[in-house]
Amino acid sequence: MPSFDVARRLVLERAVPLASEDVPLLEAVGRALAAGVAAPHDLPAFDNSAMDGFAVRADDVRGDTLLPLSAYVPAGAARAAPLAPGTAARILTGAPIPPGADTVVPVEDAEARPGGVLLHGPLRRGAHVRRRGEDLRALEVAIPAGARVGTAEAACLASFGRVEVAVHRRPRVAILSTGDELVPPGALLGPGQIRDSNGPGVAAAVLEAGGLPLPLGIARDDAPALRALLARGLEADVLVTTAGVSMGDRDLVRQELRALGVEERFWKVEVKPGHPTAFGTRGGTLVFSLPGNPVSTLVLFEQLVRPALLAMQGHPRPLRPLFPAVLDEALPHRAGRVTFSRVVLERRDGTLHARSAGSQETGIFRTLLRADGLALLPPERADAPAGTVVPVQILRPDLEAAALVEVARDPRQERA
Ligand code: AMP
Ligand code: MG
Repeated sequence: MPSFDVARRLVLERAVPLASEDVPLLEAVGRALAAGVAAPHDLPAFDNSAMDGFAVRADDVRGDTLLPLSAYVPAGAARAAPLAPGTAARILTGAPIPPGADTVVPVEDAEARPGGVLLHGPLRRGAHVRRRGEDLRALEVAIPAGARVGTAEAACLASFGRVEVAVHRRPRVAILSTGDELVPPGALLGPGQIRDSNGPGVAAAVLEAGGLPLPLGIARDDAPALRALLARGLEADVLVTTAGVSMGDRDLVRQELRALGVEERFWKVEVKPGHPTAFGTRGGTLVFSLPGNPVSTLVLFEQLVRPALLAMQGHPRPLRPLFPAVLDEALPHRAGRVTFSRVVLERRDGTLHARSAGSQETGIFRTLLRADGLALLPPERADAPAGTVVPVQILRPDLEAAALVEVARDPRQERA
């Protein structure tokens, strides 16, 4: 039975980036670039003015100097004529600097006078001029492979003239819930039945991880029916099943996967919740058999499937960062395995504090709904008393930022 770390390594070894595809720029948002992108030319491509003002030679303005205006250069001007010596050119922000000029004096530092403009020297040569290539040089790799396309990257790629970029294909993730007690969320509940919450829960998690969910519905605990649906799922990049993977005599998932040629890499992980998880492969398809209890399903998805999906999309750091937090109360834990405890987080005096979000039983939605993150209680320790510093994964992106910096309260949000 592998430790949690070993299990995750076995998964990540198999999670190789998928082929790349060219997609329209805005479809790449949130995805990782499959290749680094170089600036196609210098940025800026030409010397231009950083201000509305007057382009001059600095040497012409040693003290207070009245210069006649010899040209007008608006933004978008194809080219500016050379600046006649001893004159100034009216220039707008973004307009090309006339050859010969080396400095721009902002309008607010100049005074209009009959016959020209009064400027106050001496000037710092080069002031308010944006030099060709001062931002990025032609052929310089500006955005590395693996970078996630966000606001800055999208704007920069657009400035390079990119309307399409190469990103790794999104993994297609087949999702199969198993169990005779399950009905789809839209159906009436009969006696002894429950709604399939794992299917939609896993699909949501797949979407959040950038994958394409392919819901296969519910399989009965019946070998032929199960095998038929598993066979369909094995055509995807990833197959995630839930339930039917433990020790019960109706737990048929492993045996049917084996019959379909899936090589099991591990079954049972030293982790709580989610102990009876199995992982296997068939060709390039990764197969995760997650336990049925909703919390176990989602916690193990978070720990094993999500990192695999991110790695398959070329994200260089597929694991969530860990933040140290002080336990405000003891959390139940046993040595020899990793425990993931659902916790509520609070930042006090510059330190992150964690306490239990409620019952840690694996069927409890209430605790999952309240939890801000998962505390990782490591296998080396026999207990986790109050005051222990433990690593936590933060599951709410807004809180992740708050954990890194003490965020001043925004008064507009307080009123809302
Ligand atoms: P099993 O692993 O099949 O023994 O299932 C463990 C527990 O998870 C049982 O209480 C199941 O009813 C529950 N369960 C299994 N699949 C689902 C599902 N898709 N949605 C919600 N609960 C489930
Ligand atoms: Mg079952």
